[in-house]
Amino acid sequence: MQEFELIRQIFRNADYAQPNAQIVQSIGDDCALLNIPAGQQLAVTTDSLLEHVHFPADADPFLLGQRALAVAVSDLAAAGAVPLAFTLALSLPHPDVAWLQCFSRGLAAMAQQCHIRLVGGDTTAGPLNIGITAMGCVPQGCGLLRSGATAGELLFVSGPLGAAAAALRLFKHDSLLSADTQQQLLDAFWTPQPQLALGQWLRGKAGAVQDISDGLLADAAHIAHESGVQLCIEQHKVPLAQAAVACDAAQALNWALTGGDDYQLLFTLTPAYQEQLQHEFPQAVCIGYVQVGQGLQLVDDQGRLLSYTKTGYQHFG
Ligand code: ADP
Ligand code: MG
Repeated sequence: MQEFELIRQIFRNADYAQPNAQIVQSIGDDCALLNIPAGQQLAVTTDSLLEHVHFPADADPFLLGQRALAVAVSDLAAAGAVPLAFTLALSLPHPDVAWLQCFSRGLAAMAQQCHIRLVGGDTTAGPLNIGITAMGCVPQGCGLLRSGATAGELLFVSGPLGAAAAALRLFKHDSLLSADTQQQLLDAFWTPQPQLALGQWLRGKAGAVQDISDGLLADAAHIAHESGVQLCIEQHKVPLAQAAVACDAAQALNWALTGGDDYQLLFTLTPAYQEQLQHEFPQAVCIGYVQVGQGLQLVDDQGRLLSYTKTGYQHFG
């Protein structure tokens, strides 16, 4: 129990866990107390990262801290929310102080980048498992949902896909790739960039929005289902991450379509916003459109229907 007290101290004393104008009570009491500005709603999301499932054993704790928080904050971006606070449910086989300090520095780096603070959590003994609940604020009624796509809108992705999925190969095999390419793949996997500015820009404009965590096809199917429309993805327009192509040109498209972990945003927008979008977010690419119907269509550059078997990662698949 004394060891758990030590863990709490590591987090409690960290810069990114200190109160601010919106955080009245942070770590140290039964509950944190947060001020939500008038006219705002709280956006709340939880993500778990398990050893062997979401990251390899013996992963660098600094990178793990960065990634765990980035993955959770990415959901806030998809809601159009401004990050406020997060809690950390940590299960650890044994309390290794050096490991925890390094993990905390990783959390700190991402917390600083995303302007979010740690306000509490829970610590238990068990297999390594990192659970993060992130909270953000969004103006009343302006939260972005998966259910708002309508026929006639265009479908966009916020940036190139496939690099994080390609990185998984580096964990399994020795690689002959250049050091530069390897680093780009590892960065994509370990340091995804939550698309907060884009998410906030999309408020009041986008039909449906979500972040791509399981795979483009799988996540696009979620928007189609929740919105009661059909999404058509033009395969040749899907932007492939350069490092994924350098890693394996024959696999890159497959990684982009079905590999998860890139944490780009997938969203629908009326054509009237396209020019403004491309000006403000030049990385965004139109990859298809929304039409009446249901489910997902994948087509080639002639408009011919393509078949696919796998859509993305499924935990109970
Ligand atoms: P309780 O038993 O009332 O839930 P705990 O003794 O578990 O409280 O925790 C004491 C304080 O430490 C609480 O404010 C809690 O939020 C915080 N805390 C515990 N574990 C963590 C953690 N892993 N990260 C951040 N804060 C933590
Ligand atoms: Mg209590």
